[in-house]
Amino acid sequence: MINVQCPVCGAEFEVKNSLKGGSVNCRECRELVEVPGSDAYDTLFKTGIGLAAAFVVATGCVLLFNGNVGVGLTVLGLAAFIGLVLFLGL
Ligand SMILES: [Zn+2]
Repeated sequence: MINVQCPVCGAEFEVKNSLKGGSVNCRECRELVEVPGSDAYDTLFKTGIGLAAAFVVATGCVLLFNGNVGVGLTVLGLAAFIGLVLFLGL
């Protein structure tokens, strides 16, 4: 089960795991409430992507400092892309 909280009335209730990433009607005020899509696995997955992005950023910085500006900027661009994907939760 997943705990959700209604942003309108603040009521907390549990919904089935199968509704993850979807939406349900609040049991109190009937407002549509989004069910969070993240669970332990997603958190682990996102942490992995975050670490990968940090590693790529570090690699890009090292390349820049070593004079490989073109490659360094490309790598940093890749890191920005990974960060964007992570931010958007794709
Ligand atoms: Zn509500």
